Amino acid sequence: MAERGKPTFSIVIPVYNEAGGLRHFHQSLKDVMSKAGLLNKCEIIYCEDGSIDSSKKVLDDIAKEDDSVKTIIFSRNFGKESALTAGIAQACGQAIITLDSDEQHPVELIPAFIDKWNKGAKVVIGIRKSTNANWLKRTESKMFYSIFNRLSKQKLIPGSTDFRLIDKSVQEAFLSLGESNRITRGLIDWLGFERSFISFEPKKRNMGSPNYNHSKLVQLAMNSLVSLSPRPLYILGYIGLIITGISFVLGAIIIIEQIVLGDPLHLRFTGTAMLGILILFFIGIVLTSQGVIAIYISHIHTETKRRPLYVIDKASSKGIAGK
Ligand code: UDP
Ligand code: MG
Repeated sequence: MAERGKPTFSIVIPVYNEAGGLRHFHQSLKDVMSKAGLLNKCEIIYCEDGSIDSSKKVLDDIAKEDDSVKTIIFSRNFGKESALTAGIAQACGQAIITLDSDEQHPVELIPAFIDKWNKGAKVVIGIRKSTNANWLKRTESKMFYSIFNRLSKQKLIPGSTDFRLIDKSVQEAFLSLGESNRITRGLIDWLGFERSFISFEPKKRNMGSPNYNHSKLVQLAMNSLVSLSPRPLYILGYIGLIITGISFVLGAIIIIEQIVLGDPLHLRFTGTAMLGILILFFIGIVLTSQGVIAIYISHIHTETKRRPLYVIDKASSKGIAGK
């Protein structure tokens, strides 16, 4: 077989418990790339994220049969964000395309992404037109975008997905970001660069069920918020100020009206009421500052841990380690 040159395109695909549909996905991907005349210009990097089904075995087989395939096998489940980062880190192409392995991101659109890149876009973002998710998930997603965009200076585009293309220069910048609580989409958005968009209708999952349950999604939303915006901290500060302000005004009224002026309005504040307001004042201050400090500490904590983003169990020999 002829020696493969350096690829122009790297296709990075996170995989978690997708054994049932992987072969079909891989074939569709190859068909599309071959139809576009790009098959010999691309490498396909599967990042296996500690699946508990036979995804690893399927990927091993695919990699054996297909010279363009590289595999990265995690030692356990580290999450899609880590899988994407691992894949992006190993990509050698001039442009890197990331997409899900469950066929929800239509592979047929990859040539359109490449076309936008050829025309100069450094980042091409797939925007989900509608979603097959249920009502609850849709409402949660709407709420997240609306809260996030109100809280954060950096706006997120509703429906934007991890179906993306990034240029090599964006890859380098992305990899230079050392934080461990990473949301790939958010970081790429934060980096800026010239962007272009492609809308798509998400397909139904080909097999299996979504791996993101509610608690994982809530965690993702919280991580996005904390890592991209300090505004929740300011809001807590404001709430603290309001509570303290209200109890301060009430306290001042009591002191002036009752103690200094001798109760000309006959409000007859009892000792218990005065004590209550005093306690409210201190509780307000203590709780608010505790909350603010706790958020700062937890943020510093995560950043100082500097854990590796992922631990690679094994990587295929086709140029993964040394590139
Ligand atoms: N995935 C992953 N690790 C995980 C969960 C998911 O690599 O812990 C992969 C999964 O195989 C798929 C993509 O991330 O390729 C999106 O996952 P899923 O379809 O479960 O999420 P959704 O479509 O609901 O965003
Ligand atoms: Mg999916």
